[in-house]
Amino acid sequence: MPKTKIKCIKWAQLHGKRPRKAGCNSRLGEHGIHVKPPIAAIFAENGAIGFGRANISKEQAQSLIGFHIEDIFDLENGVKRQFHWIEYPIWDLVGQLANKPIYSLLNPSTCDEDVFTVPCYDTSLYIDDLHLTDHKEAADLIASEAIAGRKYGHRNFKIKVGRGAMHMVLESGTTRDIMVVNAVRNTIGPQAKILLDANNGYNLNLTKQVLAETAEAHIHWIEEAFHEDPKLYENLKNWLQKEGLQTLIADGEGSAAPNLLDWARNGLVDVIQYDIFGYGFMPWLKLGSQLDQWNVRSAPHHYGGYYGNFVSCHLAAGIQLFEFVEWDQASIFGIDDSAYKITDGFVNVPKAAGFGLSLDQEIFNQQVEQNGFVSQ
Ligand SMILES: [Mg+2]
Repeated sequence: MPKTKIKCIKWAQLHGKRPRKAGCNSRLGEHGIHVKPPIAAIFAENGAIGFGRANISKEQAQSLIGFHIEDIFDLENGVKRQFHWIEYPIWDLVGQLANKPIYSLLNPSTCDEDVFTVPCYDTSLYIDDLHLTDHKEAADLIASEAIAGRKYGHRNFKIKVGRGAMHMVLESGTTRDIMVVNAVRNTIGPQAKILLDANNGYNLNLTKQVLAETAEAHIHWIEEAFHEDPKLYENLKNWLQKEGLQTLIADGEGSAAPNLLDWARNGLVDVIQYDIFGYGFMPWLKLGSQLDQWNVRSAPHHYGGYYGNFVSCHLAAGIQLFEFVEWDQASIFGIDDSAYKITDGFVNVPKAAGFGLSLDQEIFNQQVEQNGFVSQ
Protein backbone atom coordinates (compact mmCIF):
# COMPACT_ATOMS: atom_id res chain seq x y z
CA MET A 1 0.00 0.00 0.00
CA PRO A 2 1.35 3.46 -0.83
CA LYS A 3 2.30 5.60 2.13
CA THR A 4 0.04 8.49 3.17
CA LYS A 5 1.85 11.80 3.19
CA ILE A 6 0.68 14.77 5.29
CA LYS A 7 0.25 17.75 2.97
CA CYS A 8 -1.38 20.42 5.10
CA ILE A 9 -2.61 21.10 8.65
CA LYS A 10 -5.19 23.72 9.53
CA TRP A 11 -6.02 24.78 13.06
CA ALA A 12 -8.74 26.95 14.59
CA GLN A 13 -10.67 27.43 17.76
CA LEU A 14 -14.32 26.65 17.16
CA HIS A 15 -17.20 28.09 19.17
CA GLY A 16 -20.26 26.54 20.67
CA LYS A 17 -22.71 26.58 23.52
CA ARG A 18 -24.10 24.30 26.18
CA PRO A 19 -27.88 24.06 26.40
CA ARG A 20 -27.67 26.00 29.66
CA LYS A 21 -25.05 27.77 31.70
CA ALA A 22 -22.91 25.57 33.95
CA GLY A 23 -22.51 27.06 37.42
CA CYS A 24 -19.84 26.54 40.06
CA ASN A 25 -18.11 23.52 41.47
CA SER A 26 -16.85 23.46 45.06
CA ARG A 27 -13.65 25.36 44.23
CA LEU A 28 -14.35 27.43 41.11
CA GLY A 29 -16.85 30.05 39.93
CA GLU A 30 -19.24 29.81 37.05
CA HIS A 31 -18.19 27.58 34.13
CA GLY A 32 -20.57 29.34 31.79
CA ILE A 33 -22.28 28.48 28.54
CA HIS A 34 -19.46 28.83 26.00
CA VAL A 35 -17.32 25.93 24.81
CA LYS A 36 -14.34 26.57 22.52
CA PRO A 37 -12.65 23.39 21.36
CA PRO A 38 -9.28 23.79 19.59
CA ILE A 39 -9.50 21.72 16.41
CA ALA A 40 -6.76 20.64 14.00
CA ALA A 41 -7.49 19.11 10.59
CA ILE A 42 -4.83 17.04 8.82
CA PHE A 43 -5.02 16.88 5.01
CA ALA A 44 -3.28 13.94 3.37
CA GLU A 45 -1.90 13.99 -0.16
CA ASN A 46 -4.42 11.32 -1.22
CA GLY A 47 -7.35 13.57 -0.25
CA ALA A 48 -8.15 11.99 3.13
CA ILE A 49 -8.88 14.35 6.04
CA GLY A 50 -8.73 13.65 9.75
CA PHE A 51 -9.63 16.14 12.45
CA GLY A 52 -9.88 16.38 16.18
CA ARG A 53 -9.01 18.25 19.32
CA ALA A 54 -5.42 19.47 19.42
CA ASN A 55 -4.05 22.52 21.20
CA ILE A 56 -1.05 23.15 18.98
CA SER A 57 1.18 25.92 17.65
CA LYS A 58 1.86 26.69 14.01
CA GLU A 59 5.46 25.53 14.52
CA GLN A 60 4.30 22.16 15.79
CA ALA A 61 1.94 21.77 12.82
CA GLN A 62 4.71 22.80 10.43
CA SER A 63 7.02 20.15 11.84
CA LEU A 64 4.60 17.42 10.75
CA ILE A 65 4.27 18.44 7.08
CA GLY A 66 5.85 15.87 4.76
CA PHE A 67 5.68 13.04 7.32
CA HIS A 68 3.94 9.82 6.37
CA ILE A 69 1.19 8.61 8.68
CA GLU A 70 2.82 5.19 8.69
CA ASP A 71 5.94 6.75 10.27
CA ILE A 72 4.07 8.27 13.18
CA PHE A 73 1.38 5.68 13.81
CA ASP A 74 0.94 1.95 14.08
CA LEU A 75 -2.07 0.11 15.39
CA GLU A 76 -0.25 -1.64 18.18
CA ASN A 77 1.33 1.45 19.72
CA GLY A 78 -0.95 4.18 18.38
CA VAL A 79 0.53 7.62 17.79
CA LYS A 80 4.25 7.72 18.60
CA ARG A 81 4.98 9.46 21.88
CA GLN A 82 6.64 12.52 20.32
CA PHE A 83 3.47 13.27 18.33
CA HIS A 84 0.98 12.93 21.20
CA TRP A 85 0.09 16.61 20.92
CA ILE A 86 -1.88 15.79 17.74
CA GLU A 87 -2.98 12.22 18.48
CA TYR A 88 -6.74 12.69 18.02
CA PRO A 89 -6.60 14.11 14.46
CA ILE A 90 -4.13 11.35 13.54
CA TRP A 91 -6.41 8.62 14.94
CA ASP A 92 -9.32 10.13 13.03
CA LEU A 93 -7.27 10.16 9.82
CA VAL A 94 -6.25 6.53 10.37
CA GLY A 95 -9.94 5.66 10.79
CA GLN A 96 -10.82 7.52 7.60
CA LEU A 97 -8.09 5.69 5.67
CA ALA A 98 -9.27 2.31 6.99
CA ASN A 99 -12.92 3.38 6.60
CA LYS A 100 -13.59 2.04 10.10
CA PRO A 101 -14.69 3.55 13.39
CA ILE A 102 -11.87 3.82 15.92
CA TYR A 103 -13.69 1.53 18.37
CA SER A 104 -13.55 -1.30 15.82
CA LEU A 105 -9.82 -0.73 15.24
CA LEU A 106 -9.25 -1.00 19.00
CA ASN A 107 -11.50 -4.00 19.45
CA PRO A 108 -12.39 -5.93 16.26
CA SER A 109 -15.03 -7.98 18.14
CA THR A 110 -17.19 -4.81 18.25
CA CYS A 111 -17.67 -5.17 14.46
CA ASP A 112 -20.10 -8.02 15.16
CA GLU A 113 -22.37 -5.81 17.23
CA ASP A 114 -25.29 -4.13 15.45
CA VAL A 115 -24.82 -1.00 17.51
CA PHE A 116 -21.86 -0.18 19.68
CA THR A 117 -23.14 1.42 22.89
CA VAL A 118 -21.38 2.79 25.95
CA PRO A 119 -22.96 3.84 29.27
CA CYS A 120 -22.83 7.57 29.96
CA TYR A 121 -23.83 10.10 32.57
CA ASP A 122 -25.11 13.65 32.41
CA THR A 123 -22.34 15.77 33.94
CA SER A 124 -24.27 19.05 33.84
CA LEU A 125 -25.73 19.21 37.38
CA TYR A 126 -23.45 21.98 38.63
CA ILE A 127 -23.85 24.22 41.69
CA ASP A 128 -26.41 26.37 39.89
CA ASP A 129 -28.46 27.40 42.91
CA LEU A 130 -26.32 29.92 44.78
CA HIS A 131 -28.73 32.75 43.97
CA LEU A 132 -31.44 30.95 45.95
CA THR A 133 -31.72 31.32 49.71
CA ASP A 134 -34.19 28.50 50.21
CA HIS A 135 -32.67 24.99 50.29
CA LYS A 136 -35.87 23.35 49.04
CA GLU A 137 -36.04 25.65 46.03
CA ALA A 138 -32.36 24.92 45.34
CA ALA A 139 -32.94 21.18 45.55
CA ASP A 140 -35.93 21.44 43.21
CA LEU A 141 -33.86 23.43 40.71
CA ILE A 142 -31.13 20.77 40.49
CA ALA A 143 -33.79 18.03 40.30
CA SER A 144 -35.35 19.90 37.36
CA GLU A 145 -31.96 19.78 35.63
CA ALA A 146 -31.97 16.00 35.99
CA ILE A 147 -35.42 15.94 34.38
CA ALA A 148 -34.02 17.98 31.47
CA GLY A 149 -31.20 15.45 31.13
CA ARG A 150 -33.65 12.58 31.17
CA LYS A 151 -35.50 14.11 28.23
CA TYR A 152 -32.20 14.08 26.39
CA GLY A 153 -31.87 10.32 27.00
CA HIS A 154 -29.78 10.32 30.17
CA ARG A 155 -30.41 7.88 32.98
CA ASN A 156 -27.33 8.56 35.10
CA PHE A 157 -26.39 11.88 36.68
CA LYS A 158 -23.38 13.43 38.37
CA ILE A 159 -24.13 16.09 40.96
CA LYS A 160 -21.59 18.69 42.02
CA VAL A 161 -21.44 18.98 45.80
CA GLY A 162 -19.27 20.77 48.34
CA ARG A 163 -21.32 23.96 48.53
CA GLY A 164 -19.98 24.56 52.03
CA ALA A 165 -16.32 24.47 51.00
CA MET A 166 -16.29 28.05 49.72
CA HIS A 167 -19.60 29.29 48.33
CA MET A 168 -21.81 28.83 51.40
CA VAL A 169 -21.44 28.63 55.16
CA LEU A 170 -20.24 25.10 55.85
CA GLU A 171 -23.24 23.73 57.70
CA SER A 172 -25.78 25.34 55.41
CA GLY A 173 -23.91 24.24 52.26
CA THR A 174 -23.69 20.65 53.50
CA THR A 175 -27.39 20.59 54.40
CA ARG A 176 -28.17 21.85 50.91
CA ASP A 177 -25.90 19.24 49.27
CA ILE A 178 -27.83 16.51 51.07
CA MET A 179 -31.21 17.97 50.13
CA VAL A 180 -30.14 18.32 46.48
CA VAL A 181 -28.98 14.71 46.26
CA ASN A 182 -32.13 13.34 47.87
CA ALA A 183 -34.34 15.54 45.66
CA VAL A 184 -32.61 14.32 42.50
CA ARG A 185 -33.06 10.70 43.60
CA ASN A 186 -36.73 11.21 44.45
CA THR A 187 -37.34 12.90 41.11
CA ILE A 188 -35.58 10.50 38.76
CA GLY A 189 -36.53 7.23 40.40
CA PRO A 190 -34.57 4.27 41.71
CA GLN A 191 -32.95 3.01 38.48
CA ALA A 192 -30.64 5.94 37.75
CA LYS A 193 -27.07 5.87 38.95
CA ILE A 194 -26.19 8.99 40.94
CA LEU A 195 -22.60 10.13 41.20
CA LEU A 196 -21.32 12.88 43.50
CA ASP A 197 -18.32 15.10 42.79
CA ALA A 198 -16.97 17.26 45.62
CA ASN A 199 -13.89 18.53 43.74
CA ASN A 200 -11.92 17.96 46.99
CA GLY A 201 -14.33 20.22 48.89
CA TYR A 202 -15.11 17.74 51.67
CA ASN A 203 -13.03 16.20 54.40
CA LEU A 204 -13.44 12.68 55.73
CA ASN A 205 -16.09 13.57 58.31
CA LEU A 206 -18.15 15.61 55.85
CA THR A 207 -17.96 12.79 53.31
CA LYS A 208 -19.31 10.35 55.88
CA GLN A 209 -22.03 12.76 56.94
CA VAL A 210 -23.24 13.32 53.37
CA LEU A 211 -23.08 9.63 52.42
CA ALA A 212 -24.91 8.67 55.62
CA GLU A 213 -27.66 11.21 55.07
CA THR A 214 -28.07 10.23 51.40
CA ALA A 215 -27.81 6.48 52.10
CA GLU A 216 -31.25 5.84 50.63
CA ALA A 217 -30.22 7.60 47.41
CA HIS A 218 -27.64 4.80 46.84
CA ILE A 219 -24.76 6.90 45.60
CA HIS A 220 -22.83 4.98 42.95
CA TRP A 221 -19.55 6.85 43.40
CA ILE A 222 -18.10 9.73 45.34
CA GLU A 223 -15.54 11.59 43.24
CA GLU A 224 -12.70 13.70 44.67
CA ALA A 225 -14.24 13.78 48.13
CA PHE A 226 -10.97 15.27 49.43
CA HIS A 227 -7.43 15.26 48.17
CA GLU A 228 -6.53 11.60 47.95
CA ASP A 229 -4.82 10.18 50.99
CA PRO A 230 -4.38 6.45 51.66
CA LYS A 231 -5.05 6.73 55.40
CA LEU A 232 -8.27 8.65 54.90
CA TYR A 233 -9.42 6.42 52.05
CA GLU A 234 -8.76 3.33 54.14
CA ASN A 235 -10.85 4.84 56.91
CA LEU A 236 -13.63 5.73 54.45
CA LYS A 237 -13.55 2.25 52.90
CA ASN A 238 -13.90 0.60 56.31
CA TRP A 239 -16.71 2.95 57.23
CA LEU A 240 -18.60 2.28 53.96
CA GLN A 241 -18.37 -1.42 54.60
CA LYS A 242 -19.57 -1.07 58.18
CA GLU A 243 -22.51 1.06 57.01
CA GLY A 244 -23.35 -1.40 54.24
CA LEU A 245 -22.95 1.27 51.54
CA GLN A 246 -21.92 0.22 48.03
CA THR A 247 -20.54 3.65 47.08
CA LEU A 248 -17.32 3.53 45.04
CA ILE A 249 -14.37 5.87 45.53
CA ALA A 250 -13.40 7.71 42.33
CA ASP A 251 -10.37 9.97 41.91
CA GLY A 252 -7.50 11.09 39.70
CA GLU A 253 -8.97 13.89 37.59
CA GLY A 254 -6.67 16.73 38.54
CA SER A 255 -3.21 16.90 40.19
CA ALA A 256 -3.46 13.24 41.07
CA ALA A 257 -1.15 11.90 43.75
CA PRO A 258 1.72 9.97 42.16
CA ASN A 259 0.82 6.90 44.24
CA LEU A 260 -2.85 6.89 43.26
CA LEU A 261 -2.51 3.82 41.05
CA ASP A 262 -0.81 1.88 43.86
CA TRP A 263 -3.67 2.75 46.17
CA ALA A 264 -6.14 1.64 43.49
CA ARG A 265 -4.26 -1.62 43.08
CA ASN A 266 -4.50 -2.11 46.84
CA GLY A 267 -8.25 -1.60 46.78
CA LEU A 268 -8.45 1.89 48.28
CA VAL A 269 -9.67 3.59 45.08
CA ASP A 270 -12.26 1.92 42.82
CA VAL A 271 -12.43 4.22 39.79
CA ILE A 272 -9.55 6.06 38.07
CA GLN A 273 -10.41 9.31 36.30
CA TYR A 274 -7.28 10.72 34.65
CA ASP A 275 -8.16 13.35 32.06
CA ILE A 276 -8.42 11.89 28.56
CA PHE A 277 -6.50 14.78 27.02
CA GLY A 278 -3.95 15.44 29.75
CA TYR A 279 -3.10 11.75 30.09
CA GLY A 280 -3.67 10.87 26.43
CA PHE A 281 -5.61 8.29 24.43
CA MET A 282 -2.94 5.64 24.01
CA PRO A 283 -1.64 5.91 27.59
CA TRP A 284 -5.27 5.54 28.72
CA LEU A 285 -5.73 2.40 26.64
CA LYS A 286 -2.66 0.86 28.22
CA LEU A 287 -3.66 2.00 31.71
CA GLY A 288 -7.22 0.70 31.21
CA SER A 289 -5.90 -2.80 30.44
CA GLN A 290 -3.77 -2.66 33.54
CA LEU A 291 -6.70 -1.46 35.66
CA ASP A 292 -8.82 -4.29 34.22
CA GLN A 293 -6.29 -6.75 35.62
CA TRP A 294 -6.41 -5.08 39.02
CA ASN A 295 -10.22 -5.07 38.97
CA VAL A 296 -10.22 -1.25 39.06
CA ARG A 297 -12.70 0.69 36.94
CA SER A 298 -11.93 3.37 34.31
CA ALA A 299 -13.85 6.62 33.83
CA PRO A 300 -11.73 9.28 32.10
CA HIS A 301 -12.45 12.91 32.91
CA HIS A 302 -12.76 15.46 30.09
CA TYR A 303 -15.26 18.11 31.24
CA GLY A 304 -15.22 21.42 29.40
CA GLY A 305 -13.82 20.29 26.10
CA TYR A 306 -16.88 18.84 24.31
CA TYR A 307 -14.74 16.62 22.08
CA GLY A 308 -14.11 14.17 24.93
CA ASN A 309 -17.77 13.11 24.75
CA PHE A 310 -16.98 11.23 21.57
CA VAL A 311 -13.43 9.95 21.92
CA SER A 312 -14.26 8.51 25.36
CA CYS A 313 -16.86 6.29 23.68
CA HIS A 314 -14.19 4.81 21.42
CA LEU A 315 -11.71 4.36 24.25
CA ALA A 316 -14.36 2.27 26.01
CA ALA A 317 -13.98 -0.43 23.33
CA GLY A 318 -10.48 -1.18 24.62
CA ILE A 319 -11.23 -1.31 28.36
CA GLN A 320 -13.36 -4.04 29.96
CA LEU A 321 -14.13 -2.22 33.21
CA PHE A 322 -15.02 1.06 31.54
CA GLU A 323 -17.61 2.73 33.75
CA PHE A 324 -19.11 5.75 31.98
CA VAL A 325 -18.57 8.37 29.33
CA GLU A 326 -18.85 11.80 30.97
CA TRP A 327 -21.35 13.65 28.76
CA ASP A 328 -20.97 17.44 28.59
CA GLN A 329 -23.66 18.39 26.09
CA ALA A 330 -22.88 21.29 23.72
CA SER A 331 -23.40 22.29 20.09
CA ILE A 332 -20.33 23.45 18.21
CA PHE A 333 -20.71 25.63 15.13
CA GLY A 334 -18.97 23.66 12.35
CA ILE A 335 -19.07 20.15 13.86
CA ASP A 336 -21.92 17.77 13.12
CA ASP A 337 -22.22 15.22 15.93
CA SER A 338 -25.78 14.18 15.13
CA ALA A 339 -24.74 10.59 14.40
CA TYR A 340 -24.25 10.14 18.16
CA LYS A 341 -27.49 9.45 20.02
CA ILE A 342 -28.17 8.98 23.71
CA THR A 343 -30.83 6.44 24.59
CA ASP A 344 -31.69 5.10 28.03
CA GLY A 345 -28.36 6.13 29.50
CA PHE A 346 -26.21 4.76 26.69
CA VAL A 347 -24.41 6.51 23.87
CA ASN A 348 -25.11 4.88 20.52
CA VAL A 349 -21.78 5.29 18.76
CA PRO A 350 -22.00 5.73 14.97
CA LYS A 351 -20.47 3.14 12.65
CA ALA A 352 -18.92 5.99 10.64
CA ALA A 353 -15.17 6.13 9.95
CA GLY A 354 -12.76 7.62 12.49
CA PHE A 355 -14.41 9.28 15.47
CA GLY A 356 -17.70 9.59 13.55
CA LEU A 357 -17.92 13.40 13.55
CA SER A 358 -18.07 15.62 10.52
CA LEU A 359 -16.38 19.00 10.05
CA ASP A 360 -17.97 21.69 7.90
CA GLN A 361 -14.97 22.82 5.84
CA GLU A 362 -16.49 26.18 4.96
CA ILE A 363 -17.15 27.16 8.58
CA PHE A 364 -13.81 25.72 9.65
CA ASN A 365 -11.98 27.77 7.02
CA GLN A 366 -13.71 30.93 8.24
CA GLN A 367 -12.52 30.20 11.79
CA VAL A 368 -9.02 29.38 10.52
CA GLU A 369 -8.94 32.83 8.92
CA GLN A 370 -10.24 34.51 12.05
CA ASN A 371 -8.23 32.89 14.83
CA GLY A 372 -6.18 30.03 13.41
CA PHE A 373 -3.43 29.13 10.96
CA VAL A 374 -2.52 26.98 7.97
CA SER A 375 0.71 24.98 7.73
CA GLN A 376 1.70 23.40 4.44
MG1 LIG B 1 -14.60 15.87 38.70
